[in-house]
Amino acid sequence: MADKDLSIVIPLFNEAESLPELHAWITRVLTQSALQYEILFVDDGSDDSSWNVIESLAAADPDHVRAASFRRNYGKSPALYTGFSMARGKVVITMDADLQDSPDEILPLYRMITVDGYDLVSGYKQKRYDPPSKTIPTKLFNATARRVSGIHNLHDFNCGLKAYRGEVVKHIEVYGDMHRYIPYLAKLAGFHKIGEKVVHHQARKYGTTKFGLDRFVNGYLDLATLWFTGKFGKKPMHFFGLLGSLMFLLGFLSAAAVGALKLYHMYAGHTYTLVTDSPYFYLSLVMMILGTQLFLAGFVGELVARNSAKRNDYEIRSTIGNDE
Ligand code: UDP
Ligand code: MG
Repeated sequence: MADKDLSIVIPLFNEAESLPELHAWITRVLTQSALQYEILFVDDGSDDSSWNVIESLAAADPDHVRAASFRRNYGKSPALYTGFSMARGKVVITMDADLQDSPDEILPLYRMITVDGYDLVSGYKQKRYDPPSKTIPTKLFNATARRVSGIHNLHDFNCGLKAYRGEVVKHIEVYGDMHRYIPYLAKLAGFHKIGEKVVHHQARKYGTTKFGLDRFVNGYLDLATLWFTGKFGKKPMHFFGLLGSLMFLLGFLSAAAVGALKLYHMYAGHTYTLVTDSPYFYLSLVMMILGTQLFLAGFVGELVARNSAKRNDYEIRSTIGNDE
């Protein structure tokens, strides 16, 4: 039910020191506007006093604060997923809890959704206050993400500060570590009007970052997964079948060539060797075996896809003459 104008979704893990300041700042910004809003904290299994802080914030500001807490730490994506399913706003804005994202950006972002008609607007931390060990790989990561996703106008896929039309968050499913690719998820779900806004970024004031360098390795793996499932998720045979057939054919032809060459030399009275003495014979064999394996992977993939509850799950924008 979208009965609010705006939901602010904040995933957090051990950010107790930042929360009161963040809540006060958001409240300061939003009481100046006439918007009906809610602040949704999702405590991702913190083991500091974050949840106590949230309880006291909710007691002091019961009209605006809602919250959920996980029994254990699942990750930022599950926290966002939960926040998205709880959100009741026509516009949803996510931000990190660590005060690196500025609440002053909320109203301009809100306008980009409601007035300019964007489906999703991602923040762009043009000037970042993070160590170079993070900013340099990030550049590379974003360049790859742009290419693979085909969303060429985004510089900062993983910015925690993002705004969405309410409908968007109800139609995408963030899981695992996929929060890095929410714009790509939105595009795969058919939301194409994706924009960017340069936002202010600050150094972390309290606490420490929750992500290490493994984020880049996992980030690339996740990108490969999204690309594959987006393109071939519903028809895996188109991927494995083509590769497998090509591989098998190549192996078969080269095996045939090895055999034919031997026969030719035999009948022409030349000296000849056994086919098993030629390395090409083994290479051909390997190719044929791999080709068959790939083809079988395609069949298995089709069986899995066929049994998926989502095999006929499409995003329907609107229908005509189809009322209940
Ligand atoms: N976060 C979370 N669960 C986790 C890790 C992080 O909810 O398992 C939250 C964290 O509290 C913060 C946001 O995700 O609000 C971004 O995390 P962080 O600031 O550590 O990332 P960085 O800014 O270093 O990219
Ligand atoms: Mg941060």
